[in-house]
Amino acid sequence: SAYDDHECDYLFKAVLIGDSAVGKSNLLSRFARDEFRLDSKPTIGVEFAYRNVKIGDAVVKAQIWDTAGQERFRAITSSYYRGALGAILVYDITRKSTFDNLKKWLWELREHSSPGTVIVLVGNKSDLTHSREVSEEEGKKFAEAESLCFMETSAMENVNVEEAFLQMIRRIHDITR
Ligand code: GDP
Ligand code: MG
Repeated sequence: SAYDDHECDYLFKAVLIGDSAVGKSNLLSRFARDEFRLDSKPTIGVEFAYRNVKIGDAVVKAQIWDTAGQERFRAITSSYYRGALGAILVYDITRKSTFDNLKKWLWELREHSSPGTVIVLVGNKSDLTHSREVSEEEGKKFAEAESLCFMETSAMENVNVEEAFLQMIRRIHDITR
């Protein structure tokens, strides 16, 4: 971003969670580098990306962690969650099972993070309307019941990606300043 050369006023950690292949890595690469990949990139070890965001007069540096595929084996360790002030919980609107697993993810997240952690629920792949298995209404309802922010996104078509991350970052900033 335009602010990458400046020092930041705040630095915080956020994590991406959700089932395998829901689009976590592509959401992050879209947000951090405006990139999208059609193939799923095999990653080794935990990765993270930074992006600086201007909020009012402050420059916030968001360090966003991505899993390296450990979610496939439900083997995300507590160090992944440690210190995270925000989380983006992702499901795939074309695979109901990824929506059904949200409760498990929330349980794990809440077990490992502090109570004030900002959580944004993201229903990704909104471009695939013809194969949708979870309605936007269902996503909204779940988010309301669990007190989460909610947004449908498309990492592929770059719809709402920026908005989802920025909503989380702004909320964290509001809480921590
Ligand atoms: P992860 O395992 O959660 O990190 O998921 P990936 O980011 O690796 O994405 C899994 C697959 O879904 C890849 O083939 C991506 O190209 C595809 N994908 C990710 N986001 C979208 C999206 O918004 N729309 C569509 N159509 N495909 C997507
Ligand atoms: Mg990934």
